[in-house]
Amino acid sequence: MYEVRFHGRGGQGAVMAAQALASAAFQEGNYAVAFPYFGAERRGAPVMAFTRVDKDKIFSKTLIYEPDYIVVLDDKLCGLVDVSDGLKDSGMAIINSAEKPEDIKLGKAVKCATVDATTVALETLGQPITNSAILGAFAKATGLVSIDSVVEGIMDIFGNRIGERLATKNANAAKAAYEVTQVGTCQGGFECEKADKWLPGYDELPLGLATRPMETPEGLVGPGSFVDNKTGSWKTFAPIYDPDKCIMCRMCWFYCPDGAIKEVGEGDAKTLEFHHEYCKGCGICANECPKDAIKMER
Ligand code: SF4
Ligand code: SF4
Repeated sequence: MYEVRFHGRGGQGAVMAAQALASAAFQEGNYAVAFPYFGAERRGAPVMAFTRVDKDKIFSKTLIYEPDYIVVLDDKLCGLVDVSDGLKDSGMAIINSAEKPEDIKLGKAVKCATVDATTVALETLGQPITNSAILGAFAKATGLVSIDSVVEGIMDIFGNRIGERLATKNANAAKAAYEVTQVGTCQGGFECEKADKWLPGYDELPLGLATRPMETPEGLVGPGSFVDNKTGSWKTFAPIYDPDKCIMCRMCWFYCPDGAIKEVGEGDAKTLEFHHEYCKGCGICANECPKDAIKMER
C-alpha cells in the first residue's frame, strides 16, 4: 500500500487531484480510495485530501497521518502548516514551486520533486489551478503510475465535472508538468510556527460532524436522533447475516452509520443482531466484512 496526502487551499482542486490519482491507480489494476478533509470550508483555507492505493482491498478509513508521499499544490502552505508532519523518512514531497528541490525547506530532509505547476497551469489552462499539473509531477517523480494512466484518471474525474474539452486541457497540463519536473532532496529542520493551528476546533467542523443534539419541533436532530428517525423503511436491500462465517471482528459494527448492529450473547456464544427498524440498507457492513458473512438481499 502507499498513501498520499494532498495539501492545498479551498478552490485549488486538491480533492479532485486525490480522486484523479485514485482513478489513475485503479486503471492499473489497483484498489484505490480518495477522500477529503475540510476545516471551515472556504476558498483559500488550507484543505487536505487523501489517496490510498493497494493491490488488495482497502479496509482502512482513517485520515492519513504517516503518508508515503505528500503533494503540495501551493508552496506558500509550507510556511503555514507543517506539510511534512508524519511523512515517512523514506517518503517524498512533490511540491508546486518554481524553486529547485534543494532550495525547498521542510520539517525533514526527504526526497523532493518540484514543478512550477502554476506556470504550467497558466500556460495550458489560462488559470492558476494546479491540481492536474501536480499529478503529472507525481507520475514523473514516483513512477508509481504512468502518465497515460494519470491522463485517464483526469479524463475520468475532471471530465465528469467540467466536461471533456476542459478535462483534455487539464490532461495536457499534467503531460507538460511531467516533462519539467525536477527531482532531488529538500532541506530539513524548518519549523512551522503555526502548525498547531492546523486542526479545526469543534465549532469549525462541517455540519453533520458536529451538530449538537437538539430538540426541535420536528423532533430530535444531531447525535441520538436516530432513535426518533426509523430509517429502516428506506432500504431496498437488507443485510442477511451468517453467524457461522462471522469471526466477530466487529468491522461491520464499527462502520455501520446507523448504529443498527448490536452485539448479543456472552463469551463464545456472542453473535450479532441487526436492527431492521433502523438499518437503511446502505450495504457498508457487507462491504467491510472480511469473511463474506453478510449478504445484501432484496
Ligand atoms: S446495511 Fe448499512 S445501515 Fe444496515 S446494518 Fe449494514 S451498515 Fe448498518
Ligand atoms: S464484519 Fe463480518 S466477520 Fe466481522 S463481525 Fe461483522 S459479520 Fe462478523
